[in-house]
Amino acid sequence: MTPMTTAGLLHALRQRLGVDQVLTSDHDLAPYVNDWRGRFHGAALAVLRPAATDEVVQAMRLCGQAGVAVVPQGGNTGMCGGAVPVGARSQVVLSLQRLRQIEQVDPLGNVLTLQAGVTLAQAQEAAAAADRLFPLSLAAQGSAQVGGAIATNAGGTAVLRYGGMRDLVLGLEVVLADGQVLDLMRALRKDNTGYDLRQWFVGSEGTLGIVTRAVLKLFPRPTGVATVWLGLDGATQAVQLLRELQRQLGDTLTAFEFLDRRSLDLVLRHATGVVDPLARPHPWYVLAEVSGGGDGAALRRALEQALLAVLEAGLAQDAVLAESERQRLALWRLREEVSESERRHGASLKHDVAVPVAAMPELVARVSATLPAQVAWATPHCFGHVGDGNVHLNVSLPPGAPAAEQDRVSQIVYDHVLALQGSISAEHGIGQSKCAQLVQQRGERAVGLMRQMKQMLDPQGLLNPGKVLS
Ligand SMILES: Cc1cc2nc3c(=O)[nH]c(=O)nc-3n(C[C@H](O)[C@H](O)[C@H](O)COP(=O)(O)OP(=O)(O)OC[C@H]3O[C@@H](n4cnc5c(N)ncnc54)[C@H](O)[C@@H]3O)c2cc1C
Repeated sequence: MTPMTTAGLLHALRQRLGVDQVLTSDHDLAPYVNDWRGRFHGAALAVLRPAATDEVVQAMRLCGQAGVAVVPQGGNTGMCGGAVPVGARSQVVLSLQRLRQIEQVDPLGNVLTLQAGVTLAQAQEAAAAADRLFPLSLAAQGSAQVGGAIATNAGGTAVLRYGGMRDLVLGLEVVLADGQVLDLMRALRKDNTGYDLRQWFVGSEGTLGIVTRAVLKLFPRPTGVATVWLGLDGATQAVQLLRELQRQLGDTLTAFEFLDRRSLDLVLRHATGVVDPLARPHPWYVLAEVSGGGDGAALRRALEQALLAVLEAGLAQDAVLAESERQRLALWRLREEVSESERRHGASLKHDVAVPVAAMPELVARVSATLPAQVAWATPHCFGHVGDGNVHLNVSLPPGAPAAEQDRVSQIVYDHVLALQGSISAEHGIGQSKCAQLVQQRGERAVGLMRQMKQMLDPQGLLNPGKVLS
Protein backbone atom coordinates (compact mmCIF):
# COMPACT_ATOMS: atom_id res chain seq x y z
CA MET A 1 0.00 0.00 0.00
CA THR A 2 1.35 3.47 -0.92
CA PRO A 3 1.82 5.55 2.24
CA MET A 4 -0.52 8.50 2.58
CA THR A 5 0.95 11.93 1.81
CA THR A 6 0.77 14.70 4.42
CA ALA A 7 -1.82 16.53 2.32
CA GLY A 8 -3.82 13.30 2.01
CA LEU A 9 -3.63 12.71 5.75
CA LEU A 10 -4.78 16.24 6.62
CA HIS A 11 -7.61 15.98 4.12
CA ALA A 12 -8.78 12.66 5.57
CA LEU A 13 -8.50 13.98 9.14
CA ARG A 14 -10.59 17.05 8.24
CA GLN A 15 -13.23 14.80 6.74
CA ARG A 16 -13.42 12.69 9.93
CA LEU A 17 -12.97 15.36 12.64
CA GLY A 18 -14.33 18.46 10.91
CA VAL A 19 -12.41 21.22 9.16
CA ASP A 20 -12.18 23.39 12.29
CA GLN A 21 -10.75 20.60 14.43
CA VAL A 22 -7.54 20.13 12.44
CA LEU A 23 -5.39 23.18 13.15
CA THR A 24 -2.36 23.91 11.00
CA SER A 25 -1.49 27.63 11.17
CA ASP A 26 1.56 28.62 13.25
CA HIS A 27 -0.64 30.91 15.30
CA ASP A 28 -3.11 28.10 16.15
CA LEU A 29 -0.35 25.59 16.82
CA ALA A 30 1.69 27.79 19.19
CA PRO A 31 -0.15 26.98 22.48
CA TYR A 32 0.15 23.25 21.77
CA VAL A 33 3.78 22.98 20.67
CA ASN A 34 5.28 25.01 23.53
CA ASP A 35 5.04 24.06 27.20
CA TRP A 36 3.64 26.39 29.88
CA ARG A 37 7.09 27.04 31.34
CA GLY A 38 8.51 28.06 27.95
CA ARG A 39 11.22 25.42 28.19
CA PHE A 40 10.16 22.94 25.51
CA HIS A 41 9.35 23.86 21.91
CA GLY A 42 8.33 21.39 19.24
CA ALA A 43 6.96 21.20 15.72
CA ALA A 44 3.77 19.51 14.55
CA LEU A 45 2.04 18.99 11.22
CA ALA A 46 -1.27 19.75 12.89
CA VAL A 47 -3.22 19.79 16.13
CA LEU A 48 -6.17 17.40 16.13
CA ARG A 49 -9.16 18.05 18.39
CA PRO A 50 -11.42 15.00 18.37
CA ALA A 51 -14.63 15.15 20.42
CA ALA A 52 -15.28 11.44 21.07
CA THR A 53 -13.49 8.12 21.44
CA ASP A 54 -14.51 7.12 17.93
CA GLU A 55 -12.83 10.21 16.50
CA VAL A 56 -9.65 9.43 18.46
CA VAL A 57 -9.76 5.95 16.92
CA GLN A 58 -10.10 7.34 13.41
CA ALA A 59 -7.30 9.86 13.94
CA MET A 60 -5.02 7.15 15.34
CA ARG A 61 -5.73 4.81 12.40
CA LEU A 62 -5.16 7.50 9.76
CA CYS A 63 -1.92 8.65 11.40
CA GLY A 64 -0.79 5.01 11.58
CA GLN A 65 -1.42 4.58 7.84
CA ALA A 66 0.60 7.71 7.13
CA GLY A 67 3.37 6.74 9.58
CA VAL A 68 2.84 10.02 11.44
CA ALA A 69 3.38 9.96 15.21
CA VAL A 70 0.76 11.16 17.69
CA VAL A 71 1.46 13.21 20.82
CA PRO A 72 -1.51 13.06 23.21
CA GLN A 73 -2.05 16.32 25.06
CA GLY A 74 -4.25 17.25 28.00
CA GLY A 75 -3.96 20.67 29.64
CA ASN A 76 -0.27 20.98 28.67
CA THR A 77 0.66 21.76 32.29
CA GLY A 78 3.19 18.92 32.57
CA MET A 79 6.65 19.79 33.83
CA CYS A 80 8.80 17.48 31.68
CA GLY A 81 7.86 18.39 28.10
CA GLY A 82 5.86 15.18 27.73
CA ALA A 83 2.98 16.77 25.83
CA VAL A 84 5.14 18.73 23.38
CA PRO A 85 6.53 17.06 20.22
CA VAL A 86 10.27 16.40 20.14
CA GLY A 87 12.60 15.16 17.41
CA ALA A 88 12.59 15.24 13.63
CA ARG A 89 9.79 12.72 13.04
CA SER A 90 6.50 13.95 11.52
CA GLN A 91 4.01 14.30 14.38
CA VAL A 92 0.59 15.65 15.23
CA VAL A 93 -0.59 16.78 18.65
CA LEU A 94 -3.86 15.12 19.62
CA SER A 95 -5.60 17.35 22.15
CA LEU A 96 -8.18 15.73 24.43
CA GLN A 97 -9.72 19.08 25.39
CA ARG A 98 -13.07 18.40 23.62
CA LEU A 99 -13.62 15.08 25.43
CA ARG A 100 -15.05 16.90 28.41
CA GLN A 101 -18.22 15.13 29.41
CA ILE A 102 -19.00 14.16 33.00
CA GLU A 103 -20.89 10.97 32.25
CA GLN A 104 -22.09 9.84 35.67
CA VAL A 105 -21.65 10.61 39.36
CA ASP A 106 -22.69 7.65 41.46
CA PRO A 107 -22.85 8.71 45.14
CA LEU A 108 -23.88 5.24 46.27
CA GLY A 109 -21.02 3.46 44.55
CA ASN A 110 -18.71 6.45 45.23
CA VAL A 111 -17.55 6.59 41.62
CA LEU A 112 -17.27 9.22 38.92
CA THR A 113 -17.33 8.30 35.23
CA LEU A 114 -16.04 10.90 32.79
CA GLN A 115 -14.18 11.63 29.58
CA ALA A 116 -10.44 12.23 29.74
CA GLY A 117 -10.52 15.92 28.82
CA VAL A 118 -12.47 16.95 31.94
CA THR A 119 -10.22 19.15 34.09
CA LEU A 120 -9.36 18.14 37.64
CA ALA A 121 -11.28 21.18 38.91
CA GLN A 122 -14.39 20.14 36.95
CA ALA A 123 -14.10 16.60 38.34
CA GLN A 124 -13.89 18.04 41.88
CA GLU A 125 -16.94 20.26 41.22
CA ALA A 126 -18.99 17.37 39.84
CA ALA A 127 -18.15 15.29 42.92
CA ALA A 128 -18.96 18.17 45.30
CA ALA A 129 -22.34 18.72 43.61
CA ALA A 130 -23.19 15.16 44.61
CA ASP A 131 -21.83 15.74 48.15
CA ARG A 132 -18.71 13.69 47.45
CA LEU A 133 -14.99 14.41 47.25
CA PHE A 134 -12.66 13.78 44.33
CA PRO A 135 -9.43 14.41 46.21
CA LEU A 136 -6.71 14.85 43.59
CA SER A 137 -5.70 18.46 43.97
CA LEU A 138 -2.84 20.48 42.52
CA ALA A 139 -2.13 24.11 41.68
CA ALA A 140 -2.75 23.57 37.93
CA GLN A 141 -6.10 21.83 38.45
CA GLY A 142 -8.04 24.44 36.47
CA SER A 143 -6.22 23.35 33.29
CA ALA A 144 -4.75 19.90 34.00
CA GLN A 145 -7.05 17.15 32.73
CA VAL A 146 -8.03 13.82 34.21
CA GLY A 147 -6.38 12.05 31.24
CA GLY A 148 -3.16 14.00 31.74
CA ALA A 149 -3.21 13.29 35.48
CA ILE A 150 -3.68 9.58 34.74
CA ALA A 151 -0.94 9.58 32.11
CA THR A 152 1.49 11.24 34.56
CA ASN A 153 0.21 9.45 37.68
CA ALA A 154 -0.13 12.90 39.23
CA GLY A 155 0.25 13.41 42.97
CA GLY A 156 -0.53 16.82 44.47
CA THR A 157 -1.46 17.95 47.93
CA ALA A 158 -3.79 15.20 49.19
CA VAL A 159 -1.68 12.08 48.54
CA LEU A 160 -0.96 11.74 52.25
CA ARG A 161 -4.59 10.84 52.92
CA TYR A 162 -6.05 9.64 49.60
CA GLY A 163 -3.12 8.47 47.47
CA GLY A 164 -2.10 9.59 43.98
CA MET A 165 -3.84 9.04 40.66
CA ARG A 166 -2.76 5.39 40.54
CA ASP A 167 -4.81 4.80 43.69
CA LEU A 168 -7.83 6.71 42.40
CA VAL A 169 -8.41 5.06 39.02
CA LEU A 170 -10.89 2.19 38.99
CA GLY A 171 -11.49 1.92 35.26
CA LEU A 172 -10.09 3.17 31.97
CA GLU A 173 -10.84 3.29 28.29
CA VAL A 174 -7.75 3.48 26.12
CA VAL A 175 -7.25 3.88 22.38
CA LEU A 176 -4.25 1.78 21.43
CA ALA A 177 -1.64 2.58 18.78
CA ASP A 178 -3.38 0.33 16.21
CA GLY A 179 -6.66 2.18 16.78
CA GLN A 180 -8.32 -0.56 18.84
CA VAL A 181 -10.26 0.46 21.93
CA LEU A 182 -9.29 -1.31 25.14
CA ASP A 183 -12.33 -1.27 27.42
CA LEU A 184 -11.28 -1.49 31.09
CA MET A 185 -14.18 0.63 32.32
CA ARG A 186 -14.96 -1.26 35.54
CA ALA A 187 -16.18 0.46 38.70
CA LEU A 188 -14.94 -2.35 40.96
CA ARG A 189 -12.93 -1.98 44.15
CA LYS A 190 -11.88 -5.60 43.85
CA ASP A 191 -11.08 -7.37 40.59
CA ASN A 192 -8.34 -9.96 40.50
CA THR A 193 -8.90 -11.26 37.00
CA GLY A 194 -5.41 -11.62 35.57
CA TYR A 195 -2.84 -8.89 35.06
CA ASP A 196 -3.92 -5.36 35.96
CA LEU A 197 -3.65 -3.79 32.49
CA ARG A 198 -5.16 -0.56 33.76
CA GLN A 199 -2.00 0.18 35.72
CA TRP A 200 0.14 -0.20 32.58
CA PHE A 201 -1.37 3.01 31.30
CA VAL A 202 -1.29 5.02 34.54
CA GLY A 203 1.99 6.93 34.42
CA SER A 204 2.82 5.81 30.86
CA GLU A 205 2.84 9.46 29.66
CA GLY A 206 0.99 8.83 26.41
CA THR A 207 3.54 6.32 25.12
CA LEU A 208 1.36 3.18 25.38
CA GLY A 209 -2.15 4.42 24.60
CA ILE A 210 -4.50 7.40 24.63
CA VAL A 211 -6.78 7.54 27.68
CA THR A 212 -10.26 8.58 26.53
CA ARG A 213 -12.50 7.78 29.51
CA ALA A 214 -12.07 6.87 33.16
CA VAL A 215 -13.88 5.70 36.28
CA LEU A 216 -12.54 7.43 39.39
CA LYS A 217 -12.96 6.81 43.12
CA LEU A 218 -14.91 9.28 45.21
CA PHE A 219 -14.91 9.77 48.99
CA PRO A 220 -17.26 11.23 51.60
CA ARG A 221 -16.97 15.01 51.42
CA PRO A 222 -15.37 16.41 54.58
CA THR A 223 -17.62 18.97 56.20
CA GLY A 224 -15.08 20.29 58.69
CA VAL A 225 -11.62 21.59 57.95
CA ALA A 226 -8.91 23.39 59.91
CA THR A 227 -5.69 24.77 58.46
CA VAL A 228 -2.50 26.01 60.08
CA TRP A 229 0.66 27.72 58.82
CA LEU A 230 3.78 27.06 60.90
CA GLY A 231 7.27 28.56 60.98
CA LEU A 232 10.05 26.01 61.58
CA ASP A 233 13.81 25.89 62.06
CA GLY A 234 14.44 23.26 59.38
CA ALA A 235 13.67 20.04 57.51
CA THR A 236 14.42 17.78 60.49
CA GLN A 237 11.72 19.53 62.49
CA ALA A 238 9.32 19.21 59.55
CA VAL A 239 9.57 15.41 59.54
CA GLN A 240 9.31 15.22 63.34
CA LEU A 241 6.32 17.57 63.23
CA LEU A 242 4.64 15.38 60.62
CA ARG A 243 5.02 12.28 62.77
CA GLU A 244 3.82 14.08 65.89
CA LEU A 245 0.73 15.53 64.17
CA GLN A 246 -0.05 12.12 62.66
CA ARG A 247 0.27 10.55 66.10
CA GLN A 248 -2.09 13.08 67.64
CA LEU A 249 -4.53 13.65 64.79
CA GLY A 250 -4.52 10.30 62.98
CA ASP A 251 -5.66 10.26 59.39
CA THR A 252 -7.65 13.47 59.76
CA LEU A 253 -4.29 15.00 58.77
CA THR A 254 -4.99 15.47 55.06
CA ALA A 255 -2.21 17.74 53.84
CA PHE A 256 1.30 18.47 55.07
CA GLU A 257 3.06 20.75 52.61
CA PHE A 258 6.30 22.66 53.07
CA LEU A 259 8.37 25.44 51.58
CA ASP A 260 11.61 27.07 52.54
CA ARG A 261 12.12 30.80 53.00
CA ARG A 262 13.57 31.22 49.49
CA SER A 263 10.39 29.78 48.01
CA LEU A 264 8.21 32.03 50.16
CA ASP A 265 10.29 35.04 49.11
CA LEU A 266 9.59 34.17 45.44
CA VAL A 267 5.86 34.10 46.17
CA LEU A 268 5.92 37.35 48.18
CA ARG A 269 7.80 39.01 45.33
CA HIS A 270 5.84 37.74 42.32
CA ALA A 271 2.29 36.89 43.43
CA THR A 272 -0.27 39.61 44.04
CA GLY A 273 -2.25 40.09 47.23
CA VAL A 274 -0.16 37.78 49.42
CA VAL A 275 1.36 38.54 52.81
CA ASP A 276 3.70 36.70 55.15
CA PRO A 277 1.31 35.57 57.91
CA LEU A 278 3.98 35.32 60.62
CA ALA A 279 5.62 38.20 62.48
CA ARG A 280 9.21 37.22 61.70
CA PRO A 281 10.93 35.13 59.01
CA HIS A 282 11.65 31.42 59.54
CA PRO A 283 13.93 29.10 57.53
CA TRP A 284 11.05 26.70 56.80
CA TYR A 285 7.26 26.69 56.68
CA VAL A 286 4.64 23.97 56.86
CA LEU A 287 1.03 24.16 55.77
CA ALA A 288 -0.96 21.46 57.55
CA GLU A 289 -4.65 20.73 57.17
CA VAL A 290 -7.03 18.42 59.00
CA SER A 291 -10.42 17.50 57.59
CA GLY A 292 -13.30 15.20 58.45
CA GLY A 293 -16.98 15.01 59.35
CA GLY A 294 -18.95 17.29 61.70
CA ASP A 295 -18.78 21.09 61.76
CA GLY A 296 -15.04 21.28 62.22
CA ALA A 297 -15.16 22.54 65.84
CA ALA A 298 -13.87 19.25 67.27
CA LEU A 299 -11.20 19.03 64.57
CA ARG A 300 -10.09 22.55 65.32
CA ARG A 301 -9.90 21.84 69.05
CA ALA A 302 -7.81 18.73 68.37
CA LEU A 303 -5.52 20.71 66.08
CA GLU A 304 -5.15 23.53 68.64
CA GLN A 305 -4.23 21.01 71.32
CA ALA A 306 -1.69 19.35 69.05
CA LEU A 307 -0.22 22.75 68.18
CA LEU A 308 0.31 23.63 71.82
CA ALA A 309 2.27 20.41 72.26
CA VAL A 310 4.46 20.84 69.16
CA LEU A 311 5.22 24.50 69.94
CA GLU A 312 6.15 23.53 73.47
CA ALA A 313 8.38 20.74 72.18
CA GLY A 314 10.16 23.21 69.88
CA LEU A 315 9.13 21.42 66.68
CA ALA A 316 7.67 24.68 65.41
CA GLN A 317 8.54 28.25 66.39
CA ASP A 318 5.31 29.99 65.51
CA ALA A 319 1.91 29.16 64.04
CA VAL A 320 -1.21 30.84 62.70
CA LEU A 321 -4.57 29.10 62.41
CA ALA A 322 -6.96 30.11 59.64
CA GLU A 323 -10.00 31.80 61.24
CA SER A 324 -12.15 31.83 58.11
CA GLU A 325 -12.41 30.23 54.67
CA ARG A 326 -10.86 33.38 53.21
CA GLN A 327 -7.84 33.03 55.49
CA ARG A 328 -7.59 29.32 54.72
CA LEU A 329 -7.45 30.06 50.97
CA ALA A 330 -4.90 32.83 51.59
CA LEU A 331 -2.62 30.34 53.38
CA TRP A 332 -3.02 27.81 50.56
CA ARG A 333 -2.13 30.47 47.99
CA LEU A 334 1.29 30.88 49.61
CA ARG A 335 2.01 27.25 48.81
CA GLU A 336 0.23 26.99 45.48
CA GLU A 337 1.79 30.09 43.97
CA VAL A 338 5.36 28.77 44.26
CA SER A 339 5.57 27.23 40.75
CA GLU A 340 3.95 30.21 39.05
CA SER A 341 6.15 32.68 40.98
CA GLU A 342 9.19 30.66 40.01
CA ARG A 343 8.13 30.92 36.36
CA ARG A 344 7.72 34.69 36.65
CA HIS A 345 11.14 34.94 38.27
CA GLY A 346 12.84 33.36 35.25
CA ALA A 347 14.29 30.09 34.03
CA SER A 348 15.01 27.35 36.55
CA LEU A 349 16.18 23.77 36.76
CA LYS A 350 13.47 21.62 38.26
CA HIS A 351 14.14 18.49 40.26
CA ASP A 352 10.98 16.65 41.31
CA VAL A 353 12.51 14.01 43.56
CA ALA A 354 11.44 11.68 46.36
CA VAL A 355 13.25 9.88 49.13
CA PRO A 356 11.95 7.88 52.09
CA VAL A 357 10.30 10.48 54.36
CA ALA A 358 12.86 10.05 57.15
CA ALA A 359 15.71 10.73 54.68
CA MET A 360 14.26 14.02 53.43
CA PRO A 361 16.22 16.28 55.84
CA GLU A 362 19.44 14.49 54.89
CA LEU A 363 18.74 15.03 51.18
CA VAL A 364 18.06 18.73 51.66
CA ALA A 365 21.19 19.12 53.81
CA ARG A 366 23.43 17.29 51.32
CA VAL A 367 22.16 19.16 48.27
CA SER A 368 22.22 22.55 50.02
CA ALA A 369 25.82 21.99 51.12
CA THR A 370 27.31 20.48 47.96
CA LEU A 371 25.56 22.28 45.09
CA PRO A 372 26.76 25.86 45.65
CA ALA A 373 30.20 24.53 46.53
CA GLN A 374 30.49 22.79 43.14
CA VAL A 375 28.60 25.21 40.89
CA ALA A 376 28.74 28.77 42.20
CA TRP A 377 25.32 29.94 40.93
CA ALA A 378 23.44 26.83 42.03
CA THR A 379 21.58 27.70 45.23
CA PRO A 380 18.53 25.46 45.53
CA HIS A 381 15.18 26.40 46.95
CA CYS A 382 12.81 23.68 48.02
CA PHE A 383 9.13 23.03 48.53
CA GLY A 384 6.80 20.09 48.19
CA HIS A 385 4.94 17.36 49.95
CA VAL A 386 6.76 16.24 53.14
CA GLY A 387 4.19 13.55 53.81
CA ASP A 388 5.19 11.80 50.56
CA GLY A 389 8.95 12.44 50.88
CA ASN A 390 8.53 14.50 47.68
CA VAL A 391 10.80 17.55 47.43
CA HIS A 392 10.97 19.97 44.52
CA LEU A 393 14.63 20.98 44.72
CA ASN A 394 14.74 23.72 42.11
CA VAL A 395 17.57 26.02 41.11
CA SER A 396 17.06 29.44 39.49
CA LEU A 397 19.19 29.78 36.35
CA PRO A 398 21.30 32.88 35.79
CA PRO A 399 21.21 34.16 32.18
CA GLY A 400 23.70 32.28 30.02
CA ALA A 401 24.34 29.43 32.46
CA PRO A 402 26.30 26.88 30.35
CA ALA A 403 24.33 23.73 29.44
CA ALA A 404 27.12 21.48 30.74
CA GLU A 405 26.92 23.19 34.16
CA GLN A 406 23.14 22.78 34.20
CA ASP A 407 23.53 19.04 33.52
CA ARG A 408 26.12 18.84 36.27
CA VAL A 409 23.77 20.49 38.76
CA SER A 410 21.00 18.00 37.95
CA GLN A 411 23.40 15.07 38.13
CA ILE A 412 24.62 16.16 41.57
CA VAL A 413 21.02 16.33 42.82
CA TYR A 414 20.15 12.95 41.27
CA ASP A 415 23.29 11.28 42.67
CA HIS A 416 22.31 12.33 46.19
CA VAL A 417 18.73 11.16 45.60
CA LEU A 418 19.83 7.75 44.34
CA ALA A 419 22.34 7.35 47.19
CA LEU A 420 19.38 7.78 49.57
CA GLN A 421 17.32 5.13 47.72
CA GLY A 422 15.10 7.79 46.20
CA SER A 423 13.43 8.57 42.88
CA ILE A 424 14.44 11.16 40.28
CA SER A 425 10.78 11.62 39.36
CA ALA A 426 8.30 11.64 42.20
CA GLU A 427 5.17 12.92 40.47
CA HIS A 428 5.95 14.76 37.22
CA GLY A 429 7.14 11.83 35.09
CA ILE A 430 10.06 11.42 32.72
CA GLY A 431 8.74 13.21 29.61
CA GLN A 432 11.52 14.31 27.29
CA SER A 433 13.64 15.86 30.04
CA LYS A 434 14.71 12.84 32.10
CA CYS A 435 15.02 10.01 29.55
CA ALA A 436 18.80 9.97 30.01
CA GLN A 437 18.46 9.25 33.74
CA LEU A 438 15.91 6.44 33.48
CA VAL A 439 18.40 3.58 33.23
CA GLN A 440 20.44 4.98 36.11
CA GLN A 441 17.26 5.02 38.20
CA ARG A 442 15.55 1.78 37.22
CA GLY A 443 18.37 -0.42 35.89
CA GLU A 444 18.86 -2.13 32.49
CA ARG A 445 16.56 -5.06 33.21
CA ALA A 446 13.52 -2.99 34.19
CA VAL A 447 14.03 -0.54 31.32
CA GLY A 448 14.50 -3.49 28.93
CA LEU A 449 11.12 -4.84 30.03
CA MET A 450 9.56 -1.41 29.49
CA ARG A 451 10.97 -1.39 25.94
CA GLN A 452 9.38 -4.80 25.30
CA MET A 453 6.02 -3.50 26.55
CA LYS A 454 6.34 -0.48 24.28
CA GLN A 455 7.29 -2.70 21.30
CA MET A 456 4.32 -4.99 21.93
CA LEU A 457 1.75 -2.21 22.24
CA ASP A 458 3.21 0.22 19.72
CA PRO A 459 5.49 -1.60 17.25
CA GLN A 460 5.57 1.39 14.85
CA GLY A 461 6.56 3.77 17.66
CA LEU A 462 3.60 6.01 16.82
CA LEU A 463 2.74 7.16 20.32
CA ASN A 464 4.65 10.09 21.81
CA PRO A 465 8.14 9.36 20.42
CA GLY A 466 11.13 10.64 22.37
CA LYS A 467 9.33 10.46 25.70
CA VAL A 468 10.13 8.18 28.65
CA LEU A 469 12.16 5.70 26.53
CA SER A 470 14.26 7.67 24.07
C1 LIG B 1 1.48 25.36 38.76
C2 LIG B 1 1.61 23.87 38.60
C3 LIG B 1 1.58 23.05 39.71
C4 LIG B 1 1.67 21.67 39.56
N1 LIG B 1 1.61 20.89 40.69
C5 LIG B 1 1.67 19.56 40.56
C6 LIG B 1 1.55 18.72 41.72
O1 LIG B 1 1.42 19.18 42.85
N2 LIG B 1 1.58 17.38 41.53
C7 LIG B 1 1.72 16.82 40.28
O2 LIG B 1 1.73 15.59 40.17
N3 LIG B 1 1.86 17.59 39.19
C8 LIG B 1 1.83 18.93 39.27
N4 LIG B 1 1.95 19.71 38.17
C9 LIG B 1 2.23 19.09 36.86
C10 LIG B 1 1.00 18.83 36.00
O3 LIG B 1 -0.07 19.67 36.34
C11 LIG B 1 0.56 17.37 36.11
O4 LIG B 1 1.57 16.54 35.60
C12 LIG B 1 -0.76 17.06 35.37
O5 LIG B 1 -1.14 15.75 35.68
C13 LIG B 1 -0.63 17.16 33.85
O6 LIG B 1 -1.93 17.14 33.29
P1 LIG B 1 -2.20 17.76 31.85
O7 LIG B 1 -3.60 17.46 31.46
O8 LIG B 1 -1.78 19.16 31.79
O9 LIG B 1 -1.21 16.86 30.97
P2 LIG B 1 -0.25 17.32 29.80
O10 LIG B 1 0.79 18.24 30.31
O11 LIG B 1 -1.02 17.76 28.63
O12 LIG B 1 0.44 15.92 29.45
C14 LIG B 1 1.31 15.29 30.35
C15 LIG B 1 1.68 13.89 29.79
O13 LIG B 1 0.52 13.07 29.71
C16 LIG B 1 0.24 12.69 28.36
N5 LIG B 1 -1.21 12.76 28.20
C17 LIG B 1 -2.02 13.83 28.43
N6 LIG B 1 -3.30 13.47 28.27
C18 LIG B 1 -3.31 12.16 27.91
C19 LIG B 1 -4.32 11.22 27.61
N7 LIG B 1 -5.61 11.54 27.65
N8 LIG B 1 -3.96 9.95 27.28
C20 LIG B 1 -2.65 9.60 27.25
N9 LIG B 1 -1.65 10.45 27.52
C21 LIG B 1 -1.97 11.72 27.86
C22 LIG B 1 1.02 13.65 27.48
O14 LIG B 1 1.39 13.05 26.26
C23 LIG B 1 2.23 13.94 28.37
O15 LIG B 1 3.18 12.93 28.23
C24 LIG B 1 1.85 21.10 38.28
C25 LIG B 1 1.89 21.93 37.16
C26 LIG B 1 1.77 23.29 37.30
C27 LIG B 1 1.78 24.15 36.07
